[in-house]
Amino acid sequence: MRGRRCVGHLHSAMSKPTDHREGSLEAPTRHPVAWQADEFYDGEALDKELERVFDICHGCRRCFNLCHAFPTLFDAVDESPSGEVDTVPKKVFWEVVDHCYLCDMCYMTKCPYVPPHPWNVDFPHLMLRAKTKRFRDQGASTRDRLLAATDTLGKLAGIPVLVQAVNATNRSKTGRYVLEKTLGVHRDAPIPRYYSNTARKRLARKQGADGEQAQATATTRGKVVLFTTCYGNRNLPSLNEDLVAVFEHNGIPVALAEQEVCCGMPRLELGDLEAVARSKDANIPILASWVDRGWDIVTPIPSRRRF
Ligand code: SF4
Ligand code: SF4
Repeated sequence: MRGRRCVGHLHSAMSKPTDHREGSLEAPTRHPVAWQADEFYDGEALDKELERVFDICHGCRRCFNLCHAFPTLFDAVDESPSGEVDTVPKKVFWEVVDHCYLCDMCYMTKCPYVPPHPWNVDFPHLMLRAKTKRFRDQGASTRDRLLAATDTLGKLAGIPVLVQAVNATNRSKTGRYVLEKTLGVHRDAPIPRYYSNTARKRLARKQGADGEQAQATATTRGKVVLFTTCYGNRNLPSLNEDLVAVFEHNGIPVALAEQEVCCGMPRLELGDLEAVARSKDANIPILASWVDRGWDIVTPIPSRRRF
């Protein structure tokens, strides 16, 4: 059968979930990413799993408008000789992987086949596995490594004598042309400003916050420690200042942790999980000590990832 199939077709064609409830009716089960196991990097097993999950998605298509990964897959299936995943060229599989930026929307909001459903579809985790395997086999381009080093880039670009020159270059036609030619950053792509007066500098006084005024509620402890993020710290410091103002207006004390490093998200998108683990090892002990002392963690980050 060519093109879109109904889910009923899949139910009859695949395993028998009749003795199981539909997925997504309750909080899904998220299995850990087994990135330290050898099988995680087994190319043949990965290919098989990509084909299995892509076939389920092709029959479902609920996520057609979430991002560019799904239309890339569905168009390729529709244009393939058999109209099924088995004749889609493997290079398209990697285009799908590239188009996934791991936002987790498909898993969290759309998919009825997430675990504990027996079809066990965790699309973002599968994309992450593919990215991680590719990073281990091939590494990443200089461009990708550079752009993923948001903390280092921000530190360099934010050096007081340099920051005006960097911002002016990023706004000039010549600068954007050079950036396009050297790093492949499209000349019209939005590029954030850099600030030397970072959010952590502006909010440094918060490092000594004691939170004595905090009033706990049934679900919060009434005082928060702020993780500013690379972007919020160096590219949009007013975001953190505004967030602090809102909390304090509502009588919620805010503290700043002694230090923070990049959360590792850009490296996660490259599949560089070793680097993500290093970020975790730097941030988590400090944040955990704040939690142990009775503070909740907040961060002005749009990502809703729960990897
Ligand atoms: S996790 Fe990936 S595939 Fe799923 S909606 Fe987000 S970008 Fe698309
Ligand atoms: S991720 Fe789930 S909901 Fe989205 S297309 Fe695939 S099977 Fe359907």
